[in-house]
Amino acid sequence: MDFQLSEEQRMIREMVRDFAENEIMPIASEIDREGRFPFETFKKMGDLGIMGLPWPEEYGGAGADTVCYAIAVEEISRACGSHGISYAAHISLGSSPIYLFGSEEQKRKYLTPLARGEAIGALGLTEPEAGSDAGSTKTTAVLDGNEWVINGAKSLITNGPLAETVITVAKTDPSAPGSHGISTLIVETDRPGFSVGKEEDKFGLRGSPTSQLFYEECRIPKENLLGKEGEGFGQILEVLDGGRISIGAMALGLGQAALEASVKYAKERHQFGRPIADFQAVQWMIADAATRLEAARLLVYKSAYLEDQGKKFTKEAAMGKLFASEAAELACFNAMQIYAGYGYTKDYPVERFYRDNRLTQIGEGTSEIQRLVIARQVLGAR
Ligand SMILES: Cc1cc2nc3c(=O)[nH]c(=O)nc-3n(C[C@H](O)[C@H](O)[C@H](O)COP(=O)(O)OP(=O)(O)OC[C@H]3O[C@@H](n4cnc5c(N)ncnc54)[C@H](O)[C@@H]3O)c2cc1C
Repeated sequence: MDFQLSEEQRMIREMVRDFAENEIMPIASEIDREGRFPFETFKKMGDLGIMGLPWPEEYGGAGADTVCYAIAVEEISRACGSHGISYAAHISLGSSPIYLFGSEEQKRKYLTPLARGEAIGALGLTEPEAGSDAGSTKTTAVLDGNEWVINGAKSLITNGPLAETVITVAKTDPSAPGSHGISTLIVETDRPGFSVGKEEDKFGLRGSPTSQLFYEECRIPKENLLGKEGEGFGQILEVLDGGRISIGAMALGLGQAALEASVKYAKERHQFGRPIADFQAVQWMIADAATRLEAARLLVYKSAYLEDQGKKFTKEAAMGKLFASEAAELACFNAMQIYAGYGYTKDYPVERFYRDNRLTQIGEGTSEIQRLVIARQVLGAR
């Protein structure tokens, strides 16, 4: 067993950390306050070559492994949760379905601009009536000659207002029961009949836009179907497995930011004539957060490693996301406790870490759904 990162993985961490500390961290508080998507840093992330980090170079990517990608999400999220989620959604949700299930032509046409950072991607899965029960999608796509005609609505879609392409989950066989008869399609957002609805006014991740999407007689070419008709639900489960690694990594970054802030403040802040880091109560809060984050990191990296080995990682990805989101929750909670009154104000970033991290227990399957996935893997189908 080798717990060392490879030379490439260490280099990616160093490069992304350097970029995130210089370009992202300084604007994190401002974009949160203004609710503004940072186009300027995403353009620079494209120039840095990380917008398609895990995809092959022939499609504009960097050909890095999943561990490298998890490290990149972690480092970006350590600097800013809004950047972290928009980046993770762009790669894991908006691009990976094309990489995993797309034809050669679809990869050249749609994956390449996404990987180069010339376009931003999104995934339209969640609907007003279909959240955790993603298989009950109501959006339909009906073939009419050489075109699919899509009707329906999606909600809570990350990058929804700015994506050039949205991987859209729709029922292509309305007569099929449950999650059968579902397909995934690449929708270019300049198609007539596609529109962006209300942008959500969120608790956290306020620099990452989340919105409703509407499809009204939206016509797309027949060849924009991903993979085979009717295989969409299975595809989405695979996409979500990968996505969970990225949300786990996002929690690691936010938890790490909270821990580092706690350590710094505990050494600076004096009460009763000594730094508060001298009090055992404060030391224990830091020790608990550090221990859980370290364990979470091992789980998240292990799930990424398994994906790189071509092994099944459904259980480990769900465990990693569940555990990391809760480890980060504790790190953020303890950070606010250590900063106390000042942590409760917007003068310090710990309240933002706390708000931003809350999503990691909700998006890409709630913690209850992660437990359900893990239990199914441990107990077997019941
Ligand atoms: C900031 C943000 C970004 C998002 N980005 C995207 C995106 O890019 N694309 C996309 O498609 N979606 C996105 N989502 C949607 C997200 O995936 C859903 O919110 C999530 O899957 C939960 O669905 P829901 O909110 O409808 O909750 P519901 O499914 O209504 O769940 C409500 C409660 O019931 C519990 N529950 C439901 N079913 C069960 C069960 N079987 N067993 C036990 N408990 C259960 C849940 O755990 C939860 O506590 C995003 C959401 C947010 C907040």
